[in-house]
Amino acid sequence: MSEATSVLLFFGLPGSGKGTLSALCTQHLSYEQLSTGNLCREHIAKRSEIGKQIDFAIQSGKLVDDSLITSMVLEWFTQNIAQKRVILDGFPRTAIQAQGLDEFVKKAQNLKPLLVQLTIAEDVVVDRLGARRTCSNRSCQAVYSLAEGSGLMPLVAGQCDTCSSALITRRDDETAAIKERLKLYRAHEQALLDFYAGAGYPKLQLEANRPIEQVFEDLKQHLVKI
Ligand code: AMP
Repeated sequence: MSEATSVLLFFGLPGSGKGTLSALCTQHLSYEQLSTGNLCREHIAKRSEIGKQIDFAIQSGKLVDDSLITSMVLEWFTQNIAQKRVILDGFPRTAIQAQGLDEFVKKAQNLKPLLVQLTIAEDVVVDRLGARRTCSNRSCQAVYSLAEGSGLMPLVAGQCDTCSSALITRRDDETAAIKERLKLYRAHEQALLDFYAGAGYPKLQLEANRPIEQVFEDLKQHLVKI
């Protein structure tokens, strides 16, 4: 039988470090990442039909419709099924999305999902999101932080290290939208965790209020053991 595909499902508050951790996994562990947030922002930038439908939800920090986001993910997954290591960053966010993905996982077989839960206090992520800056180039979307000691400061102020585009504050990183995003995360958190407990998915919990390299180290240690 061919080697199973490892599927990491990153789950945690906005600002808990899912995107940065995903980037480390793609750079150092050959993972292929799908960030649903990045995918949505790409659609908006391209002004595609989907982009027009989801623009308002994204800017105001609300969630995109379950069936729309699930079909976007499953389409990506179908195209990338040959990958041996996959990260879903920011999906599923609701129990309905988790169900949609679970049906796909069961049909596809040979997929080995692991729920990676990043735990962190809400006041810490509020500060993190306020200090977050994102590359304005939609095909880059690298993430930086202006917070002292974050280790994520850009080398040149206001400029992306990778592609030199300007850094911006995402609309949904503004205070009102942050509050809405945290509220929505909390509203769906327990149902999602209950779904995964019932479905018997393995889960790894990582404390996220520490330097991201340490979080990554713990994840690596776990992945070599399974
Ligand atoms: P993120 O970059 O993961 O913080 O996502 C940014 C925004 O994209 C969210 O606030 C939602 O509006 C939308 N989004 C991303 N992933 C999902 C999802 N799984 N379900 C619904 N909306 C999503």
